Amino acid sequence: MNHNLCKITKEVWLFFLDLIFPLECLGCGREGFWLCGDCFKQIKFKSKQYCLHCKKENDWGEFCPPPARPDDFGRSGGCKIIYSLNGVWIAALYDEFLISRAIKSLKYHFISGIADDLNKMLIIFVDRLLRQSKVLRLGLAEGVSRLSFKRAESLPLAILNFNENLIIPVPLSSKRLRWRGFNQAELLAEKVAENYGLALDKSSLIRIKHKKAQAKLDEIHRQENIKGCFEWRGSNLNKRNVILIDDVVTTGATLNECAKVLKAAGAGEVWGLVVAKG
Ligand SMILES: [Zn+2]
Ligand SMILES: [Zn+2]
Repeated sequence: MNHNLCKITKEVWLFFLDLIFPLECLGCGREGFWLCGDCFKQIKFKSKQYCLHCKKENDWGEFCPPPARPDDFGRSGGCKIIYSLNGVWIAALYDEFLISRAIKSLKYHFISGIADDLNKMLIIFVDRLLRQSKVLRLGLAEGVSRLSFKRAESLPLAILNFNENLIIPVPLSSKRLRWRGFNQAELLAEKVAENYGLALDKSSLIRIKHKKAQAKLDEIHRQENIKGCFEWRGSNLNKRNVILIDDVVTTGATLNECAKVLKAAGAGEVWGLVVAKG
């Protein structure tokens, strides 16, 4: 009963918010859309992924593996060592005008309807990632070149066994959730899980502390600020791979802290999937 009441109140609240902000395209002002078809088509997807730490381009957005020779430590690669997260998949760049506008409208003007457009983007992007892995695997079946073998080696298990992933949204603190009325990461996660028929867990990863807003802090302080903020209250994850969903990634401190908690709870690979890099 309580749960239903809560759901109705939330829906009424979201309905009023959507009334305050009339439905018109963020790009060209055309009525009836948050992003009209023409403006949506103009969004540039990120064609190459990279290691979030050192920005070196790679196929799957993984953190650089440790160098082959111990002497090379500190000179090349090894970014992976300092992260619990395996890597991040970034659909678009935040400096793309429409993307930053859409995300700001979603988060700060509480326009939950925009989540549908951002979701479409995430899904187009994930489709591409999956296609890319299929092409690579088909290529391998035809004969192994050294390069394609190397690329296949870095193929995440979370992509190879995509249907077995568990989708988890990055949680908001209850204080922030009350203020905003919804968790934007949850809106995105629900649609991704639904579209691919993946399992979704919205309640086991909990944000136990509300810290200062990360936006004002540099990288080192972000890591300090976010430490100990999350807790896993579900059962052991038994090597299951997890895709953590959020709207924006900046330094990756939040995603990484979640990944740390998830791996302590038995998760296999943990990847971030975000709309944009802030
Ligand atoms: Zn438009
Ligand atoms: Zn790197």
